[in-house]
Amino acid sequence: MNTPCPTCANSELRDTTLDEHLPAQSCPDCRGTLLSLIAYRDWRASHAAPIDAIEDSGEASHVDDNKAMLRCPQCKGFMTKFRFSADTRNHIDLCDRCDQVWLDHGEWRLVEQLARSGQLAKIFDANWQKKLREEQARRRGEERWAAQLGEDYARARELRAWLALHPKGKELLAYMFLSQTDGV
Ligand SMILES: [Zn+2]
Ligand SMILES: [Zn+2]
Repeated sequence: MNTPCPTCANSELRDTTLDEHLPAQSCPDCRGTLLSLIAYRDWRASHAAPIDAIEDSGEASHVDDNKAMLRCPQCKGFMTKFRFSADTRNHIDLCDRCDQVWLDHGEWRLVEQLARSGQLAKIFDANWQKKLREEQARRRGEERWAAQLGEDYARARELRAWLALHPKGKELLAYMFLSQTDGV
């Protein structure tokens, strides 16, 4: 059975393994990988050993991320893109009819830690995606403040953390606020 690559026009996927007991199919041209969530769950149940952290080999910049809508190589339906971490802009593509995930070249390494801790399938649930959006919004907010405050941002952040934990934080804030409004 030949499975076409969802991102290359004329390539066929070949059998491979992502881990010793985790079969998948990969494209010899774009080096992307099609992973069955059924195979993933089997591997997770029987073989996956948790790892503490992925060693950073400095290859992060070589991770691909296909922006186009992909069609599932099995059912030809459109796959859905999911971001999986606020630390990266990468997406993985899911066909929820066939339970197949497409990982662009290098993306396995980005999701490996999640996969080994049993969280790969959780990426696709609404709660995960909601938390991710909240984290992204929080980071965008911080970025705006950093741009606005410039070199004082780090100090302001420190002060803010101090106020947040201080039992008289509100009073201290009011005191400082007054110095700005009344000029006192
Ligand atoms: Zn390909
Ligand atoms: Zn499909």
